Amino acid sequence: ALHNSLVELRGNIRVHCRIRPLLPFDDAAGHSVSQDRQRNFSEKAAYAADDETVLVKCSRPGHASVNKTFQFERYNVCIMAYGQTGSGKTYTMLGPQSEGNLAFSIEEESELGIIPRATQEVFRLISEKPQGSYWVEVSVVEVYNNEIFDLLAKDSYGKAFGIKRDVVTTREGKSDVPLLTHETVKNASEFLHLVNKGLQLRVTHPTLVHAHSSRSHLVVTLTITTVVFGDNFGTLWEDEQTSQRLTKESSCTFLQRMRDNKSTSSSRPSSPVQFEATEKMKQVKTRLQLVDLAGSECVGMSGVTGAALRETAFINRSLSALADVLGAIAEQRAHVPYRNSKLTHLLQDSVGGDAKLLVMLCISPGQKYLTESMQSLGFGTRAR
Ligand code: ADP
Ligand code: MG
Repeated sequence: ALHNSLVELRGNIRVHCRIRPLLPFDDAAGHSVSQDRQRNFSEKAAYAADDETVLVKCSRPGHASVNKTFQFERYNVCIMAYGQTGSGKTYTMLGPQSEGNLAFSIEEESELGIIPRATQEVFRLISEKPQGSYWVEVSVVEVYNNEIFDLLAKDSYGKAFGIKRDVVTTREGKSDVPLLTHETVKNASEFLHLVNKGLQLRVTHPTLVHAHSSRSHLVVTLTITTVVFGDNFGTLWEDEQTSQRLTKESSCTFLQRMRDNKSTSSSRPSSPVQFEATEKMKQVKTRLQLVDLAGSECVGMSGVTGAALRETAFINRSLSALADVLGAIAEQRAHVPYRNSKLTHLLQDSVGGDAKLLVMLCISPGQKYLTESMQSLGFGTRAR
């Protein structure tokens, strides 16, 4: 079987396919998905690469971009894993330490998941910039039954408590989740610690406790903030000797001040006073959204009742809303139906517009999964 392939690459959407190895719980007699069936979907040359190469590549925010001169502070990026339950989505996004989806660590370097890898990459890129000129905030949410749960929220005693939030469209037409908890993190290990805390909350939260992790979408968002001059993007640091603008030192002091004034809790005050002082400066935020989608298996509605029926209906609806959105973006239609589900509304700014999207199609090997695998490849084909 073909292991990893670049299924398609066009415009702002990239689709990769990862077939996990046959595992003991698979039907040993099953045949692997044949290469021929795969080829039907691979118009652009399919390539065979080992898992680590693919993971390393796909975890670079810039990889989601066709543009060679990708600037991570300029584009929003989304990396999402799509596939049936058991196909390796969580393994791909979080890594092998994700048993039960409750924890992951950075010990197993070679198989490290995309979420910790991408975060390390972001901090590596930031380390090349003047100290203190960039900062990163994290939010972790779960979308379950078309409701958004803030997994980093705390109650008034400081105890973790997954509060329900809503997604709205701002006056500028951006998607925003008011009151969502954004925690500032200084490095990848602080990030992992925080995300693990968020993930653990799922077992105690009253609404989520009975929900299997594969029945919900997990969205981890890194918000990267820096300050630039008006439309002269990026000249702040590069042209400092010749330009009349702030020197690197005074810019950093400025940034430091702005950050210190900033609350790290759920409320995010804008800082208009700071901006008046240097009107040419503007704060630029980009987002990296990392998504472990709910299982895409085609569960029939017959024979399913109560909570399970509700769950299934919501998953089907949100994944088909996602397919509709990606289809509309790929076809460059004027109207993209982001608001048909909370999931797509939440991801709006990191999949549409200038944003770069990378879809990891996760595939289970074995004949018995053929229908689901074809369905997943079909999703990838629609997205391009
Ligand atoms: P999903 O999140 O899509 O439901 P998981 O990521 O939980 O699937 O993977 C299902 C099982 O397969 C897990 O036991 C996981 O450890 C294993 N697995 C998935 N991908 C791989 C891989 N590339 N190599 C080895 N084991 C894998
Ligand atoms: Mg999973």
